[in-house]
Amino acid sequence: MLHSPNPLLDERYAALDKQLSEYAAASIPAEPDDDPEEATRRFVASLGAARITACLDATDADALDSVTLCRTRELLAYYSALCDTGFAMQGLGSYPILLSGSSTLCKTYVGPAARGEKIAAFAVTEPEAGSDVSAIQTLAVRDSDGYVINGRKTLISNAGIADFYVVFARHEEAFLALVVDAEADGIRFPNPMEVIAPHPIGDVAFANCRVPAAQVLGDGTDGFAIAMATLDRFRATVGAAALGLAERAFDEAVAHTKIRRQFGKQLCNMPTVRATIAEMATEIEAARMLVYRAAVLANAADPAATLAASTAKLFATEAAQRVVDQAVQLHGGSGVVRGSVVERLYREVRPLRLYEGTSEIQKAIIAKNILKEKESETTDAGA
Ligand SMILES: Cc1cc2nc3c(=O)[nH]c(=O)nc-3n(C[C@H](O)[C@H](O)[C@H](O)COP(=O)(O)OP(=O)(O)OC[C@H]3O[C@@H](n4cnc5c(N)ncnc54)[C@H](O)[C@@H]3O)c2cc1C
Repeated sequence: MLHSPNPLLDERYAALDKQLSEYAAASIPAEPDDDPEEATRRFVASLGAARITACLDATDADALDSVTLCRTRELLAYYSALCDTGFAMQGLGSYPILLSGSSTLCKTYVGPAARGEKIAAFAVTEPEAGSDVSAIQTLAVRDSDGYVINGRKTLISNAGIADFYVVFARHEEAFLALVVDAEADGIRFPNPMEVIAPHPIGDVAFANCRVPAAQVLGDGTDGFAIAMATLDRFRATVGAAALGLAERAFDEAVAHTKIRRQFGKQLCNMPTVRATIAEMATEIEAARMLVYRAAVLANAADPAATLAASTAKLFATEAAQRVVDQAVQLHGGSGVVRGSVVERLYREVRPLRLYEGTSEIQKAIIAKNILKEKESETTDAGA
């Protein structure tokens, strides 16, 4: 399914496919690593060395190619969800700097992240501020030569292994985005968490953590807009990762139904099994079109890009969950045995419906955008 015809992915991306296939063969082990921190360090370094993360060091934020991001996530997720999140976090943690950081900050953080020399993290979520980003309580107070940060972030990917954190904090009436080095005084990484599938994640706590003013992104009041613009840009890529997981589950399931025999015949010759395969393939194709359509619109800075990104993330992650579940079902009992590929995919696909905006939040964004369009249509009609 990885190479199913895709009219939104033109021949310029053939070289990318070759680069990613060669990388996967050389650097992604067949057996997933049990130590997510160690594996992430290794993936970030090898993605940098293979120049796969080089695309993140674009000349400016507008030049970042969303189609490349999506195709890279799709293929990496097909082979390893952990490798995909290693790639994704380098992007999520460096994009706000590319978008709103000084050229010095870009040189210090974006370049090294793109070369795999520094691990990036993006810290928004707090114990009392998940879907409601505007509820964040981490406080940045102006000091003579910078800011003093106090507060706690939770569920932060790469917590404890990242070299830098793009942190969103409250400052007076506004939100501030700033880059905090892992070595800064007053930053700690308590509460490492074990989630459903291997993933480096935990809390980031700030106790009188001093950050120089030069580490601030944007004008010091537009942190919320920076966070939203970053999530907007990367949302369709979560759909792309879901697509890669679904394609892998599909391929595993089809191969299994050709080998497994019951009632004297191959599973793939049974009508209900064939119907399931057809449903899975159709969901994957629909997800593919929504994801790449959103990427093309993002590249064109089309006003419809936000709506398209949420639609793509919502559908692709929900569809991937269904496809992976069907793949487990087609495997029978062997599909839930620890160590089987579809059992691993079943655990890996679940978080995608939660992070970077849950499915319910995507629905809220979709409805808001559609109703806004309708309102303007009504206004126009009334004018
Ligand atoms: C594997 C993983 C990695 C993550 N990595 C990061 C990271 O690197 N950086 C970071 O900042 N965060 C990260 N997160 C956190 C993630 O962004 C949040 O978990 C997510 O935004 C949801 O917030 P919450 O968990 O607090 O759930 P809540 O906001 O408490 O939501 C709970 C439920 O209520 C629903 N809900 C909430 N509000 C509404 C509403 N208005 N209408 C309808 N339903 C609603 C939600 O959809 C959900 O079903 C990660 C999470 C996971 C699981």
